[in-house]
Amino acid sequence: MKIMKFGGTSVAHASNINKVIDIILESLKRGENIVIVVSALSGITDNLIMLANLALKKDLKYKTIFQNIYGRHNQAIKELINSKNKEKVLKKINKKYSELEKSVKNIFSAQELSLASLDLVMSFGEQLSSFIIGEGIKSRGISCEFVDSREVIKTDDNFGSANVDLEKSYRLMSDCFKGKTLSIMGGFIASTKNGETTTLSRGGSDYTASLVGAALNASVIEIWTDVDGIMTEDPRKMKNALLIPEISYEKAEEMAYNGAKVIHPKTIRPAVLKNIPIYVKNTFNPKGQGTRISNGIETQ
Ligand code: ADP
Ligand code: ASP
Ligand code: MG
Repeated sequence: MKIMKFGGTSVAHASNINKVIDIILESLKRGENIVIVVSALSGITDNLIMLANLALKKDLKYKTIFQNIYGRHNQAIKELINSKNKEKVLKKINKKYSELEKSVKNIFSAQELSLASLDLVMSFGEQLSSFIIGEGIKSRGISCEFVDSREVIKTDDNFGSANVDLEKSYRLMSDCFKGKTLSIMGGFIASTKNGETTTLSRGGSDYTASLVGAALNASVIEIWTDVDGIMTEDPRKMKNALLIPEISYEKAEEMAYNGAKVIHPKTIRPAVLKNIPIYVKNTFNPKGQGTRISNGIETQ
């Protein structure tokens, strides 16, 4: 079993999503079962937060944000889903839009934005992306099972940065994914035992991938992003940053805690405990070697 996580830029729009599907197909050819974890389309989580805050202030500009969110997802559906399935997918997505509108209207009329309602609003980014990308994969002739992350990752009610009940979640995930060749789920989102939606903190989809990997004793966890791997410095700020091809769990965790956004700091722990290597790879340069995070002893 292998876990492949694709971040926001990797799934920004249909043309990038098609690159992601190419990478998944390549991996499937090698015969391993795969769980795909996806983030929201890039910028959508920020849009959703803005939406909730504008609704709180009764600022009608929130309507423009809705249009942007719908436009981005509808365009992806238009380009990714074949005509046979398009109507069914649009029906499902319109239902999601209505749920989102309902949660935003509640903020508007109550004039209150609790962390719980912000989590619910933010969760639509991953709810929408995971469903649409799963259908996009099916449109390319491959069966792919959609899993609602909120049914398999259980947390406390520390909204905004919920703590995962590992024992329960690992059991639910191992039951859910047993024997499945290809499944897809949203990163970042989870739920309490009462079914309230929670999130694992910003950038938390990497952590989701690691949790799934640990639950399934995966052979590898791959974090596919928009840079060649973990670099000596943020390559967007330092032109001469160098790729680090191999790094220990400890050092990677330290870099993440010190702000290297390429990997969420919580990602490392579940992988260490099961000794699963994590690879950080570039969706836009899939042949690049990437970074291997491990305990330092080459096992492959
Ligand atoms: P994703 O949406 O794929 O999760 P992120 O934006 O969360 O991607 O993380 C990737 C970004 O992390 C890169 O675009 C890069 O600018 C930034 N980054 C910060 N520090 C580092 C580093 N040391 N090595 C690589 N990337 C880094
Ligand atoms: N979409 C979420 C965020 O923007 C989670 C993630 O991208 O990992 O924080
Ligand atoms: Mg990230």
